[in-house]
Amino acid sequence: MTDGQARLIAEAERRLGPKAVVTDMADIEPWLTDWRGRLHGASPAMIAPASTEEVAEVVRLAAEHRVPLVPQGGNTGMSGGATPPVDGSALLLSMRRMNRIRSVSAENRVAVAEAGVVLETLHHAAEKAMMRFPLTLGSRGSCTIGGLASTNAGGTQVLKFGTMRSLVAGVEAVLPDGSIHNGLSGLKKDNRGYSLDQLLIGAEGTIAVITAVALRLVPAVAGRAVAWVGVASPAHALDLLRFIQSQTDSLEGLELVREDCLQLVLKHVPGSRSPLRGSHAWHVLVETTTARAALDVGGQLERLLSEALKAGIIADAALATNEAQADAFWKLRDSISEAERAEGQTLAHDVSVAVADMPKFLVDASEQVESAFPGVTATGFGHLGDGNIHFHVRAGSHAASDWYEREGDEITRFVDDLVIAAGGSISAEHGIGQLKRAEFARLASPARLHALRAIKQALDPLGIMNPGKLVP
Ligand SMILES: Cc1cc2nc3c(=O)[nH]c(=O)nc-3n(C[C@H](O)[C@H](O)[C@H](O)COP(=O)(O)OP(=O)(O)OC[C@H]3O[C@@H](n4cnc5c(N)ncnc54)[C@H](O)[C@@H]3O)c2cc1C
Repeated sequence: MTDGQARLIAEAERRLGPKAVVTDMADIEPWLTDWRGRLHGASPAMIAPASTEEVAEVVRLAAEHRVPLVPQGGNTGMSGGATPPVDGSALLLSMRRMNRIRSVSAENRVAVAEAGVVLETLHHAAEKAMMRFPLTLGSRGSCTIGGLASTNAGGTQVLKFGTMRSLVAGVEAVLPDGSIHNGLSGLKKDNRGYSLDQLLIGAEGTIAVITAVALRLVPAVAGRAVAWVGVASPAHALDLLRFIQSQTDSLEGLELVREDCLQLVLKHVPGSRSPLRGSHAWHVLVETTTARAALDVGGQLERLLSEALKAGIIADAALATNEAQADAFWKLRDSISEAERAEGQTLAHDVSVAVADMPKFLVDASEQVESAFPGVTATGFGHLGDGNIHFHVRAGSHAASDWYEREGDEITRFVDDLVIAAGGSISAEHGIGQLKRAEFARLASPARLHALRAIKQALDPLGIMNPGKLVP
């Protein structure tokens, strides 16, 4: 532990109380590794403030003693942004004690939640007010509002409601000099120049600590319909998307799942069952919703799927007959990452290309990767309607235990080059963190890199906010 760290820890304990400082390694250990278990960092302490003023105190101490901080929410991020450096030079700044929902206003359609509020908790609070926060993802039981804003998270409802960027009405944050920015007014219109709130969304804790977020709400769901559909190819899945969109505004989610991903879930997730009898090369999970109780979305989706079947767009479909079945369909989709983790080594690429280009990209890129790296399986699943696929490369059963370390970088460079050649992005929704920093530096335009570095330098000249992340 450095002298600066020791002084910060002692001072934080004196000013914030013992609950705010964790130095027992057994308590810190689980937070030093990323969700995929690939990155392992070190830190002598975890500071856990309980209010915005306490966060500001900690940040001022960090600046005074030149001690870097790594903000952390639920630690479910996929790019290693919340994992501290291995040399133990930084302290973890856990936001999980800041877990109050300050307000839920159905009238303003805005909720204000502190950074450490878990997404699912916010969902329940909005429901109580007959409203809904329309962003969800597989990690909803652990990821936090601060983490979601800091990664500009997407999820399965982006098709209709956009990413966090469109759902955040304002941000409260502590800047690296300890000053507090309060953007929580929730104004719909506010044109006072650069939007600091928008700048902090997706900033991955590199220029501020988000302490609270004003979030846009929509009316609660009055009816939903969920179907599991078998299709021959990603192109058929896109045809289905466009067909449904041409017939109704109710489409909320459309997720693509390749057969091998489904099989992994069936193998590793107890109690899971395939919704369709036959086998299909690709599957699509479709959800339609309405806030109008009079609209029969179930009947509407059934009719649309039967027309799609007749038109040869889809091969088979199962419409969930009750909420439990609908949840079971979603569980199949949400469990893919977990099933892959249980299966073995996987290289994850979270990529986007133009929506209409995705089917061809997915098929071509899979073939090219599998022929360039014999033995691997290249597969894809995810948010087809957003042009965003989780393009994963799995080690074959023959692979050595250090496959990821030995071949990972080369395969990732290969995939990223294909994405850039297709005009896409190497990070659609998971951010850059530490995992994608080298590739970001290699592939981003000089203009983008220059602007990013200038912003970082201007706001965090001492380099105390999450060093080694995002900004190359
Ligand atoms: C099963 C599973 C499914 C997932 N599905 C999706 C998906 O569909 N779409 C998607 O976008 N992501 C998905 N994710 C990734 C992840 O859940 C999101 O990135 C989420 O936003 C991370 O939130 P968190 O609270 O866990 O943040 P963390 O992992 O703790 O942190 C993520 C980044 O944000 C920074 N940070 C955290 N809190 C703050 C704060 N208060 N102030 C400043 N910086 C902060 C951290 O320093 C780090 O850089 C999934 C993850 C899992 C495990």
